[in-house]
Amino acid sequence: MDFKSTYLQGVYDKVCARNAGEKEFLQAVKEVLESLEPVVERRPDIVKAGVIDRIVEPERQIQFRVSWVDDNGNVQVNRGYRVQFNSAIGPYKGGLRLHPSVTASVIKFLGFEQIFKNSLTTLPMGGGKGGSDFDPKGKSDAEVMRFCQSFMTELSKHIGADTDVPAGDIGVGAREIGYMFGQYKRLRNEFTGVLTGKGLSYGGSLVRTEATGFGLCYFTKEMLACMKNESFKGKTVVISGSGNVAIYANKKATELGAKVVAMSDSNGYIYDPNGINLDVVKQLKEVERARIKEYVNRVPGATYTEGCRGIWTIKCDIALPCATQNELDGDAADALIKNGVIAVAEGANMPSTPEAVEKFLAAGVLFGPAKAANAGGVATSGLEMSQNSERLSWSFEEVDAKLHDIMVKIFHAAYDASKEYGHEGNLVMGANIAGFLKVADAMLWQGISY
Ligand code: NDP
Repeated sequence: MDFKSTYLQGVYDKVCARNAGEKEFLQAVKEVLESLEPVVERRPDIVKAGVIDRIVEPERQIQFRVSWVDDNGNVQVNRGYRVQFNSAIGPYKGGLRLHPSVTASVIKFLGFEQIFKNSLTTLPMGGGKGGSDFDPKGKSDAEVMRFCQSFMTELSKHIGADTDVPAGDIGVGAREIGYMFGQYKRLRNEFTGVLTGKGLSYGGSLVRTEATGFGLCYFTKEMLACMKNESFKGKTVVISGSGNVAIYANKKATELGAKVVAMSDSNGYIYDPNGINLDVVKQLKEVERARIKEYVNRVPGATYTEGCRGIWTIKCDIALPCATQNELDGDAADALIKNGVIAVAEGANMPSTPEAVEKFLAAGVLFGPAKAANAGGVATSGLEMSQNSERLSWSFEEVDAKLHDIMVKIFHAAYDASKEYGHEGNLVMGANIAGFLKVADAMLWQGISY
């Protein structure tokens, strides 16, 4: 028996039977359902209306073939997905991931998490996610373009500015969004805000590129101040990954007075005791699309270690996992705790295993869960949608101030819910409960379709 409530146990058993073998999805559902134990006790109306039974089942799930021709004239076939999980509070919203590890389970876990994350932002966005097992690494620009066009040819039938608005995620940045937007416009003869993360010249928002990493640091700053009377000033920080989220988390943490000493990619990690030179990382990752190990050839005093998991053995005060799911396990948590970490905040989605989360909470380490801590990206996507609807562009300062305000509010929503439901300071429970209640309320109002 995993749950105290027999009702929740029944819901979870059904999810397991229906989605057998989908381990990432089951992991994400279990974590949310565990947090809902106190809600189930207090809210029989939610149970009676089957809200929880309904919320664990996607409203719609699309899987499609993506065929394209590589530079040698060979036909390649990938699999595309879009999971439209929940539209109770707004159009489906969530990124597209291009990575060989993408499966239905991965997209469903991300789409499920997105429901609660989007609700926490306070903006009107439902939850969705999509992607493909296509690997952009090693592909030419022309190959990436042909893939993106083929992907969008099918996806365009299911999305729209008021229906479903995808964005970037792993492997999908400005280049990919541009190719996809161009194809959507060609097919539909419409210039609408159907994607976010667009280039600034055609409807993108300032701060969207920086938003997830900046937002992560704004959330962490508030968590440190309110729960430990602490700040980033003078702290040593370790950040996994070296993609979009990791780069801008590094930038903001450094601006806030911290020293970031390590970053990684899927092959290994760099350690620079003098503080990572972010210009070098940006040149390698954003311009040259090179591997992180190249850093040590350009910056004296830095070292490179093969294998990305060892990064958590580096002594630090604050750890920001910003690469991928389940990258920080129980052993990594033990190493961080032993080295005196005071706060962990998740830039990636579900980077900490359940065992690691349990260890952090038991050791009194401040823990910011992904759906709260990394919500700045989608929040700024929501602001991009508003600007597209208004046909206006806001200044950097204006968007950054709104992002900061949203992240502070998210922290307090999660903290307040943790307190109200008897688990003060447990932001995993707080974020799940606060995110869930708004969606549940909307589902109650909207009735059940017969
Ligand atoms: P990028 O593609 O820009 O960067 C991903 C980084 O993570 C790269 O350094 C990559 O290394 C590393 N990585 C990817 N897969 C693995 C793996 N299996 N093992 C180890 N390292 C890996 O993606 P983002 O920075 O956009 O996304 C990072 C995380 O943040 C994801 O979990 C994403 O869902 C989450 N996120 C992103 C948002 C956004 O706005 N972009 C919003 C909210 C969450 P390599 O280059 O070697 O593959």
